[in-house]
Amino acid sequence: MATKTAAKPAKKPAAAKTAKAKKAPAKRKPAARKLRPGTPGGVPSSLVPLKARIRTIPDYPKKGILFRDITTLFLDPYGFRKVVDDLVQPHAGRRIDVVAGIEARGFIIGGAVAHQLSVGFIPVRKKGKLPWETIGVDYQLEYGTDRIEIHRDAVTKGQSVLLVDDLIATGGTAIAAIQLLRQAGANLIGCSFVIDLPDLGGKKRIEDMGIPVQALVEFEGH
Ligand code: AMP
Repeated sequence: MATKTAAKPAKKPAAAKTAKAKKAPAKRKPAARKLRPGTPGGVPSSLVPLKARIRTIPDYPKKGILFRDITTLFLDPYGFRKVVDDLVQPHAGRRIDVVAGIEARGFIIGGAVAHQLSVGFIPVRKKGKLPWETIGVDYQLEYGTDRIEIHRDAVTKGQSVLLVDDLIATGGTAIAAIQLLRQAGANLIGCSFVIDLPDLGGKKRIEDMGIPVQALVEFEGH
């Protein structure tokens, strides 16, 4: 009886087989080293201190002021993360019910801090910006007065509140915010700033009110 044998597939020509097997992976060019914004010439981002990530603009908004511009810090992913982590770290395990941030840079930092602490956020706004019923406090500026406001129902009596802003100078704005939050029934458990200008005395004024103040970097002068 005749036996059937399966027909073997035709062998590929040896040359073609070797060509496929030996196809070398395409050589990649080494990626150009990208520096994050705010990283001065070649230093790895994590080694640049926070202070060096803040831009100083002389004579803004008026002559004699050294404006500490933290938009450079916000732009830098490492710097922004580090600021939020460093502001949150001392409060680990403490009771904080809500974070309040002062318009406008305090919204950016305070919002991120609130998110990290898994609590709510109160915007402390300039006069006339909030849409519902407000309570407010007037405070003195170098020339004239200003007013900050919160919604009437922003704070529940006895809530532990952490106040956040980008910078403390004379303390006028933050103290007005503290008065307003206290008036609404808040228990101020601390104030957190990225920058302190110690020569202007604001941090001390708040500490003298019995409120702990945290600031990550200091700059001389104003
Ligand atoms: P003060 O009420 O005097 O403590 O001023 C604090 C507020 O003014 C904060 O909301 C800051 O954003 C802003 N501010 C005051 N001085 C400066 C400065 N040199 N650079 C940037 N912001 C400043």
